[in-house]
Amino acid sequence: MARPTSEYLLSRLTQRGDSTAIKSILAVAAQPGMLSMAGGLPAPESFPAEMLRAAMDSVMSRRPSEVLQYAPTEGVSEMRDLVAGLATQTGAPCTRERALVTSGSQQGLDLITRTLVDPGDTVALEDPSYLGAVQTFQQADARLLAVPGDSEGLDTEVLEALLRDGHRPKLVYVVPHFHNPTGAVLSPQRRRHLAELSETYGFVIVEDDPYAELWFDEPRQPSIDVYTDRVVRLMSLSKTMCPGLRVAGMVGPAPVLMAASNVKQCTDLQSNTLGQHLVAETFSDAGFLTGHLTRLRSLYRAKANELESLLFSRIPQLIFGKPRGGLFLWCRLAAELALDARAFAAAAVERGVAVVPGDPFCIRVDGSRYVRLSYATLSSPQLDEATARLAAVCRDALPI
Ligand code: PMP
Repeated sequence: MARPTSEYLLSRLTQRGDSTAIKSILAVAAQPGMLSMAGGLPAPESFPAEMLRAAMDSVMSRRPSEVLQYAPTEGVSEMRDLVAGLATQTGAPCTRERALVTSGSQQGLDLITRTLVDPGDTVALEDPSYLGAVQTFQQADARLLAVPGDSEGLDTEVLEALLRDGHRPKLVYVVPHFHNPTGAVLSPQRRRHLAELSETYGFVIVEDDPYAELWFDEPRQPSIDVYTDRVVRLMSLSKTMCPGLRVAGMVGPAPVLMAASNVKQCTDLQSNTLGQHLVAETFSDAGFLTGHLTRLRSLYRAKANELESLLFSRIPQLIFGKPRGGLFLWCRLAAELALDARAFAAAAVERGVAVVPGDPFCIRVDGSRYVRLSYATLSSPQLDEATARLAAVCRDALPI
């Protein structure tokens, strides 16, 4: 018989046990034979595996004693320069001193939360929001201020009204491009407005933008840090390179970055040295990034178009906006379907398809009639099969 957790004197933090949603989604999605539209995993064919293999040969033969050694907490200089360079290309000028290497943007989220947020402090975020962020803020005992959004992202007019009412968030969290889960893109007007609000009310904007480069037709917008320096950018490479190396960047105001690197030192001393060198070496090929991103955009555009047309022709009961980039479709279940999103997801699993019901992403809005579908990891025949099975789930749920 399992022993009660109280016997192990678990901390207050872990006793809450509220961070299991991602784990359970991924566990179902990993069942053998499951066609998974659930996780936020990138397409395996998008990984620059050959380039990384060559980079591995190169760094291991040229600099083994360096790439296998401990490295500074802030990151190896080549990687910090790369992060600063990428930040400069897509936003305000940045230098190595303001670039921290993190173990994925998920660690960046954790670090910035622990750097800025005390228990009871307010964090404002779009509702719904990325589950990993919601859980991080909850673990920090933050008070969540849910701000509704639409296809243009977080509604800054509503945020302003909340600020006028006296709410004082320490940070405002946004995923400006191809939001997870909604796919929304924060409009230029709202970016500027958010920046103005941050100056007036003194909060920090956390700009978590892992999908920005995965646009289909309309190129990405510059970072919000072109309008204000009160921005901490989390620059994941998981979707544009690969998630397995756990190497990402974080840039922001120097004092905040310095404090975050002190927090990081206690967490893991540093991010993986070898991984940082592999990434920096791969990017040192001048033509790599442009060619690679062009391939990724056409890969995901094709997958998105395919899923969109399969759903249009087979499942009119799933209602969604045209995908503009990223990995996800956020679908509303039509009222005529006699099941909510959790029941829909359970019925889909019965038929061997994993999807994510909307409510874990939602703070105050009702997610019970939304599901998130990813088109990233399934091949064309698998998308065909998965949508045929979802169509059967819907047929069963229609009034007779
Ligand atoms: N932010 C968002 C919005 C995400 O969707 C994800 C991953 N799905 C992350 C952060 C975490 O990214 P990383 O792999 O860099 O930790």
